[in-house]
Amino acid sequence: MNKIIKKCKVCPIGCELIITENKSAPSGYSVEGNSCNRGRDFGIKEVTEPSRILTGRVLLENGHMSRLPVKTTGVVPKDKVEECLEIFNSTEVTAPIKRGEVIIKNILGLGVDVVAARKALQNSAM
Ligand code: SF4
Repeated sequence: MNKIIKKCKVCPIGCELIITENKSAPSGYSVEGNSCNRGRDFGIKEVTEPSRILTGRVLLENGHMSRLPVKTTGVVPKDKVEECLEIFNSTEVTAPIKRGEVIIKNILGLGVDVVAARKALQNSAM
């Protein structure tokens, strides 16, 4: 049975994922080592869609949550994914943010933008 070990890149914790072929699982794979469902989904995508729309989170200041979900407007080649996620992890935005607002224009010159996947309200307590 094939096992693939990947570091989860969805959040800075970086859980080590063990992705195993599993014919009885709906996706054809099972994932261990993940601390949350986002890691499981990431692990499955890593082996089923090596080039894809990239999703992640950027730091959010002055918002009602600490991180803003973002996604690319097009497919990112697999060999550029890590660089893009490093940029996500070092990007900080300030609420309010509208859904679909461009957060990073033309990331790495790939011809795709990174946009807000949801709106972020300003934290009224601040
Ligand atoms: S599995 Fe969950 S907690 Fe672990 S790195 Fe991925 S997103 Fe973060």
